[in-house]
Amino acid sequence: MNKLEKIHSETSGHAPAAKPPQLAGRPSRAEAEQAVRTLIRWAGDDPDREGLVETPARVARAYEQWFAGYAEEPEEVLQRTFEEVAGYDEMVLLRGIRFESHCEHHMAPIIGRAHIGYLPNNRVVGVSKLARLVEVYAKRLQIQERITAEIANTLERVLQPIGVAVVIEGIHGCMTSRGVSQRDATMVTSRMLGVFRDQPETRHEFLSAIDLRGSMRS
Ligand SMILES: [Zn+2]
Repeated sequence: MNKLEKIHSETSGHAPAAKPPQLAGRPSRAEAEQAVRTLIRWAGDDPDREGLVETPARVARAYEQWFAGYAEEPEEVLQRTFEEVAGYDEMVLLRGIRFESHCEHHMAPIIGRAHIGYLPNNRVVGVSKLARLVEVYAKRLQIQERITAEIANTLERVLQPIGVAVVIEGIHGCMTSRGVSQRDATMVTSRMLGVFRDQPETRHEFLSAIDLRGSMRS
């Protein structure tokens, strides 16, 4: 259990959500802007030259958007589940959920698509909530393996479905623009739970429905 989950379970019931621990002791915006000035100097430029004067403020604002996921509780995103499913017991699948994240090793962008499937057990959730769940986890410093696992585990906890499948395709800026410069390499990660793990035919149905091959380029 990670820290966030622990806090969530301790405050479950109707207590207000605790502030995520990552935001406690957060530096001021002025300190963040000062850090950007330092990085500009480290890159070899002059933070006081005209074109760069406003850059630290812009970067701080961009960070607020890129890392907005720290201020949100993923389980709350799924809070409203719909239990009236009229006997629907087939797979629910949302494919091609686009997201942008940042790798925790280089803070370089990860551009990806998530595909989520689950086999409901009386509880379903609105499709927009699935996309929001991806966004909350993506807007943090991440590795792709963890986003994949966190999405699947959260769905399993909240919906208690018969199975969950999550596949993520990602192009990593730290690979495409530096280091080995693998411009076309796509990383694929998956997490299969319940029937998707135990029954090859269910897993196969999901994998053929998302039609991975070449989908990042469409
Ligand atoms: Zn990286």
